[in-house]
Amino acid sequence: MCGIIGYNGKDNAIPIVINGLKSLEYRGYDSSGIAYFLNDKIKIIKEEGRIKKLEESLTNDTSNLAIGHTRWATHGKPSKINSHPHRVGNVTIVHNGIIENYATLKEKLEKDGYVFKSETDTEVACALIDNLYKKTKDKLKTLNKLQEYLKGSYALLILFEDSRDTIYAIRVGSPLIVAKGSNGNFVASDIPAILEYTNKYYLLLEGEIAVIKRDSIVFYQDSKEIKKELLTFEHDISSAKKEGYSHFMLKEIHEQPTVIKNFLEYYLNNLELIPDLSKYKKIHIVACGSAYHAGLIASYLISKYGDMEVSTYVASEYRYKKNFIDNKTLVILISQSGETADTIASLRLAKEYKATTIGIVNVVGSTISREADEVIYINAGCEIAVATTKAYTLQVLALSLFAFKLGIKKGIIKGIEKEAIIKDYLKLPKEIEKILKVDYKEYAKKIYKHKSVFFIGRLIDYCICEEGSLKLKEISYIHSETYPAGELKHGTISLIEENTPVIAVVTDKNIADKTVSNIKEVKARGAYTLVLKNKSLQLDKGIYDDVIEITNLNDLALAILAIIPLQMIAFEVANMLGYDIDKPRNLAKSVTVE
Ligand code: GLU
Repeated sequence: MCGIIGYNGKDNAIPIVINGLKSLEYRGYDSSGIAYFLNDKIKIIKEEGRIKKLEESLTNDTSNLAIGHTRWATHGKPSKINSHPHRVGNVTIVHNGIIENYATLKEKLEKDGYVFKSETDTEVACALIDNLYKKTKDKLKTLNKLQEYLKGSYALLILFEDSRDTIYAIRVGSPLIVAKGSNGNFVASDIPAILEYTNKYYLLLEGEIAVIKRDSIVFYQDSKEIKKELLTFEHDISSAKKEGYSHFMLKEIHEQPTVIKNFLEYYLNNLELIPDLSKYKKIHIVACGSAYHAGLIASYLISKYGDMEVSTYVASEYRYKKNFIDNKTLVILISQSGETADTIASLRLAKEYKATTIGIVNVVGSTISREADEVIYINAGCEIAVATTKAYTLQVLALSLFAFKLGIKKGIIKGIEKEAIIKDYLKLPKEIEKILKVDYKEYAKKIYKHKSVFFIGRLIDYCICEEGSLKLKEISYIHSETYPAGELKHGTISLIEENTPVIAVVTDKNIADKTVSNIKEVKARGAYTLVLKNKSLQLDKGIYDDVIEITNLNDLALAILAIIPLQMIAFEVANMLGYDIDKPRNLAKSVTVE
């Protein structure tokens, strides 16, 4: 959560930091602030609300060194006083993450005479740095000691007022990259913030400290200087720009044919790069949010085509529950950012029990990609909209290929069927393009004024509904729930009133008749029914008000095609309601806190 950026160089740092914050706004956006050196003193400007408001408060100052922050509040409400940067004594910091032991630390620091203005855990960390620096009189020693005191996750940029030429950076848990430009150096939570200036960067790893000057970057680990590899970001900068689309979400939805085509071309020609799941006794899939929904779909596909026991868990539950993990268990962790705190904790837990771990991630070099035994990159490019679309479909596709390969290995998929499935995979880009041409406003009109929407489906269709429903509620703020179609009558059907929208997904022909009966039940109670169905299924017209048809493909590919109309419906509904689609309230893209 939250975006941080710092610049130290020859150019004016203030517009660079503001621009960087704008491209990090997807990570948090309830308040923002900047700190810069002006005549050897640190000046701080902060505002509640979006970065635009901060921009309006800026003066004509110029400075060569600045740090900035866009916040996703965890400790204390969004307000000017709680927003970052925080300053205590000689020290000014911005922080991404949570200091878990802040209350105990605060009590001790209060005894030492510190008085706190904000409700944040960050101000406590700031006071602690000031306190340690007073004692050690040495900045590196202070930051090393700091790691002994702080519990939780933190990426910190630190300015000392008596060190006018340096930004210090340290991370434990939350991500940070340090980048080298031609006119100066950068440090940021994520790559989009620096791409306009450079694509050369270092990944700061757990516990490392970066000392960033105008023309040098030095790294330390356990007080010793270390050398790090300078990496190059290969995706082109356009993936971090809207390129004529009104919203990042719309752009990312429309990028799906291309990213899926690229992914398929690579992996279908290199199936040996897809992990062989046949070696394991059981499979756990662990993830959060949409990635969890991708995992739900995968559990159907892998059990069906691989004839194996697969269970999907929400990471924030998995890490605390009793799990039956051993060295024959495979644990698959899915996370777009590769920095999702609960998923990382689950990965570490699985490793403790000697399970094999595979990460499915988008961000190259992220914590999960480094710590998992094996990693599959989905190569979605930058995904900026908070509500995921292309990263989700690529996660499903990656897992679908796991199932496909396992099916072949076990002889469940063979001969002509194998060829037919490959053909269906390859049809996906064109089929998605086709389905994107439908005018979804027509359906959105019938949904956007309602307080509640229900999604129903069975088996894999139920999993698709889970993601469709999440998309809708994330960005339109309409209450939306998914039910296994047969479960609705066990209570929830009492919520169906005249015209309540019910979206039913029916792609699985083996269970279609059963779902149809459930659609009839809600229709009989006055619901507006929108059915998303497989073209080859003949359904009685009387059961739906509207229908969207998708081409019949093998379910390994169909699960990907089926989500596209639901993404578009969510987008059009939120657009009709006039909401900030790319930055829905209370959410943030990369959930680096528990
Ligand atoms: N825990 C800090 C706060 O609430 C930082 C949150 C963030 O990562 O934006 O201010």
